[in-house]
Amino acid sequence: MKIPANKLSPQFFKYQKEYEEKALKVLRSGYYVLGEEVNLFEKEFADFVGTKHCVGLASGLDALWISFRLLGIGKGDEVIVQSNAYIASVMGITINGATPIFVEPDEFFGLDPLKISEKITSKTKAILVVHLYGNPCDMEKITFIAKKHKLYLIEDCAQAHGATISNKQVGTFGDIGCFSFYPSKNLGAFGEAGAITTNSEELAQKFKVFRNYGSEKRYHNMVVGTNSRLDEMQAGLLRVKLSHLKELNEERISVCKKYSEKIKNPLIKLPKFQQNFSSVFHQFVIRTNHRAKLIEFLEENEIGSLIHYPIPPHLSEAYGYLNHKKGDFPIAENFSDTVLSLPLFNGISDDEIDYICRKINEFKV
Ligand SMILES: *Cc1c(COP(=O)(O)O)cnc(C)c1O
Repeated sequence: MKIPANKLSPQFFKYQKEYEEKALKVLRSGYYVLGEEVNLFEKEFADFVGTKHCVGLASGLDALWISFRLLGIGKGDEVIVQSNAYIASVMGITINGATPIFVEPDEFFGLDPLKISEKITSKTKAILVVHLYGNPCDMEKITFIAKKHKLYLIEDCAQAHGATISNKQVGTFGDIGCFSFYPSKNLGAFGEAGAITTNSEELAQKFKVFRNYGSEKRYHNMVVGTNSRLDEMQAGLLRVKLSHLKELNEERISVCKKYSEKIKNPLIKLPKFQQNFSSVFHQFVIRTNHRAKLIEFLEENEIGSLIHYPIPPHLSEAYGYLNHKKGDFPIAENFSDTVLSLPLFNGISDDEIDYICRKINEFKV
């Protein structure tokens, strides 16, 4: 049995007819950028998340860097972010010239609320939480800290469309929620796309102007903006997928429940979750001190796996200029050395899951 770590085609074929009808409709409409599909998607996604506004953008990275730009956070400012973040989260901060201040994650892979306060200085302007692998960060505690210190709170929800804490969705806790619809995400487009969610009318309006060269009225440019427009094809196809997102997420959750129940090997640590926190399982991430051997063993058995992520941002070449060294963030570094994402995608079969679990349980060193 050959099982890749990820496979995107089954979830297309599951709703093939709807996608193809929508694609044809857009092709025939004569409107290809920022039209009715985008308007409707923004409305439906805001309703889904539970915010007043959503603004469609060209990518998740755009959602992040434009957020910091519009909040006026740049050179000389500091932004707190977890040390096991995805590199794009950190780039969202540094594109504007601000400095990322890394804080170690807790045992659930989220920003550790107990370690934030000691890193806050007079230069701190915001906290960026990353709901990694689909699991929410501890937003009750983090919201409290952000309010207390009057800091902006930005949520990177790129892996967590639909994740909740006590039924409240990520993307509603902070000032801005940043989403990516890169094809492999839980709500994935068929190309590049992103969005922000916010309850601020003023901010939403600023995003709409900024994404379109800083113009609200054609050829009247109010600010130096960018081109980060969402196109009609992606918006239309996203509307189709959004209408099925609940069942797609539920499928992922049920796959991961099986993983959690069936994997019983003392060499493997299963992911842990807090009460009332509902992950949408962008990834199912196990940890092991024998990762290289496990990857090799899985490969021998034709099972794919991925590492999210092998190098923590503070040790990446791109951030050499921050002068961090190995040992600065031991928890994130340990995660980078031990995490492994098992195959997880819509359309994975029970037989495939059983096979993976059986093989993992056979693994020894
Ligand atoms: C995918 C991702 C991004 C970037 O989104 P793009 O659409 O690829 O620009 C940012 N943060 C996290 C956590 C992501 O997973």
